Amino acid sequence: MAEYILKKLDAQMGNPVSYSIGAAATLVRLNDLIGSEVEIVYKNKIVCSWCGKQTNKSFGQGYCYNCFVSCPETEECILRPELCKIQWGEARDLQWAADHHLQPHYVYLSFTSNFKVGVTRKTQVPTRWIDQGALAAMAVLEVPNRHIAGVVEDYMKQFFSDRTKWNEMLSIIYSDIDFSESYTLFLEQLPEEFNQYIIKDPQIQTITYPYQVVPNGLRNINLEKENTVKGTLAGIKGQYLVFKDGKAINIRKYTGYLVDLIF
Ligand SMILES: [Zn+2]
Repeated sequence: MAEYILKKLDAQMGNPVSYSIGAAATLVRLNDLIGSEVEIVYKNKIVCSWCGKQTNKSFGQGYCYNCFVSCPETEECILRPELCKIQWGEARDLQWAADHHLQPHYVYLSFTSNFKVGVTRKTQVPTRWIDQGALAAMAVLEVPNRHIAGVVEDYMKQFFSDRTKWNEMLSIIYSDIDFSESYTLFLEQLPEEFNQYIIKDPQIQTITYPYQVVPNGLRNINLEKENTVKGTLAGIKGQYLVFKDGKAINIRKYTGYLVDLIF
């Protein structure tokens, strides 16, 4: 047993993806726990992932209210990249925004529960794709900053979803994913001014998870309501721990929550 402040599961690409939680002495390789009894007990404390202060309520997955409305990690353009203004010298924190958003970004197609379009900083690949539980993904455009990526993504929402349905994502183990139709549609619809950013010879990245069997009766656990999640760990996909009885918990959603992990 050990105490953890939950944060996004660390995921390393491999066949399958290797997940861990904690660091140094408290590091646990979650793949090793599959098939074993695991219990997560919420200790009714949340620690803001920006300022480190305690907060009663988590805003924007892990922030206290003050940080939620002021820190660079929760600025509007995190969820809506097309609203990024750092390329015009405007941001909550100029240095942070320049370091993170004036960087090469990809506009990609991925298959999670469906084909979707998305945006990520180039250095976040393949982590971003693993976090969303994509079975396969391909970067289609490489653009110089977050704003341009967002403008393209926003436009492409007419033709592609930008969402993942968690229960469908967890219901698919493997399917042969053929990007040719989506890729063709994307290029056909792409406004000409963005042609300069098309990646020549794009590669499809396939991802295998330590998730072999879909349990019956998948249901999403609310850690605040249920307080304790306990069961035999069946597998891990995206940011979800999935138990044999169908319970699934999105660990990222509980960033900052203080828990005991018992196994
Ligand atoms: Zn804070």
